[in-house]
Amino acid sequence: MSDTAPEKFKPYTRQTIKQARQWEWMDEELREAVQVVSHVLPFRTNEYVLDRLIDWNNIPDDPIYRLVFPHRDMLPPQEYAHLRDLVLVQKDERAIAQYVHGIRMRMNPHPAGQMTHNVPRVNDAPLKGLQHKYKETVLFFPSAGQTCHAYCTFCFRWPQFVGMDDMKFDARETTQLVSYLRTHPEVTDVLITGGDPLIMNTRSLAEFIEPLLAPELAHIQNIRIGTKSVAYWPQRFVSDKDADDLLRLFERVVASGKNMAIMGHYNHAVELRQEIAQKAVKRIVGTGATLRMQGPLIRHINEDPKSWAELWTTGVRLGAIPYYMFVERDTGPREYFALPLARAHEIFQQAYQMVSGLSRTVRGPSMSAFPGKVAIDGVAHIGGEKVFALQFLQARNPDWVRRPFYAKFDPDATWLDHLVPAFGKERFFFEEDEPMPRKVIHLATAHAPTPAARTEEPALAASNAA
Ligand code: SF4
Repeated sequence: MSDTAPEKFKPYTRQTIKQARQWEWMDEELREAVQVVSHVLPFRTNEYVLDRLIDWNNIPDDPIYRLVFPHRDMLPPQEYAHLRDLVLVQKDERAIAQYVHGIRMRMNPHPAGQMTHNVPRVNDAPLKGLQHKYKETVLFFPSAGQTCHAYCTFCFRWPQFVGMDDMKFDARETTQLVSYLRTHPEVTDVLITGGDPLIMNTRSLAEFIEPLLAPELAHIQNIRIGTKSVAYWPQRFVSDKDADDLLRLFERVVASGKNMAIMGHYNHAVELRQEIAQKAVKRIVGTGATLRMQGPLIRHINEDPKSWAELWTTGVRLGAIPYYMFVERDTGPREYFALPLARAHEIFQQAYQMVSGLSRTVRGPSMSAFPGKVAIDGVAHIGGEKVFALQFLQARNPDWVRRPFYAKFDPDATWLDHLVPAFGKERFFFEEDEPMPRKVIHLATAHAPTPAARTEEPALAASNAA
């Protein structure tokens, strides 16, 4: 490992990863998995991730290795075997493309109604690159921000990266966004998202942000940017040639009277152990912007409550605000990554118990499901029945927010549509107009817990495998 973090961004993909010195440290099976599975799950990493975040003495179980390197268990064995044959033996590009497309379509590329229910329409035409799910927040996907400094194997935005153009959201400029916002005074927040918008240089980013500062959009109070750069390339805020310009842009937003809110995606405490990552946080909050920390709970990557507690505690010390622990979404290779909701709640509760009140701004574990963001508040016994206590933190219908509701306890359920109402009811209160389609549970119980879970939390790891 080099002593200083690299200053020049150097990405690696399936085509170039062999040039990384770490490639030699991987055994044949791991290398093969990268070559095969990366046809389905987009693969991209960079020198900083390889040099600073992955502990190569601990591969393949190292959490960041699992986060960025495709692994063979991310596909069912028969799919892996067939794809392996197509890629390594037959080398038939057309057959590979066809087979890969089938796998991707099985992986629920756009969960939670993103394509069907969240895209706003004007004169019956969809507005490309916009989503409007919750009354007060519009999501905007600038086309130049639809890639990332590295790709997460669990990513729920993966169609953005893999050439599924008909599945992609992106907008080339802000005219439609601004016109839409002008006629929607109820919108207070614009979330600029991707991919990672901070892959753009500052000048391009400013072209998307500055129109939002116009007096006619005074109702926009919060400009949010969702970014993983804080972890995958903190140099973006520290040593990139336009890093200072980026900070000046944040300051201009703050000076305009709006809140510049950076939604920082973190997956593991190691990401914030790096000196440069800590410096990035300080520089962001030094502009008057706010930095919130959020990320999903993912099997094989961050099942250890101590990692979450360390992440939130370090973040708070540096001036960031813990915001969300999400439940891994029902997309991509989720049978590999999903944890039962019961286990997710245990991990959240244990991490929450380890931190001071200042870190307890965090909410979760929360499912970004079709009807809204649903948090698991706890497991209780009511009237002799074991139940999950749940509530909406955010909802398509604002009246649903913070109304407690209950589902039968189910140790295997991993998503909202696996749950059924408690107390003999047929529907949850939010299903009065339209019942939610329910799914049969396919939890991959065959997956053993990671060594970290085995060594640090034997009792919980056992229940995880149940
Ligand atoms: S940084 Fe976010 S958008 Fe990019 S690959 Fe990871 S999860 Fe997906």
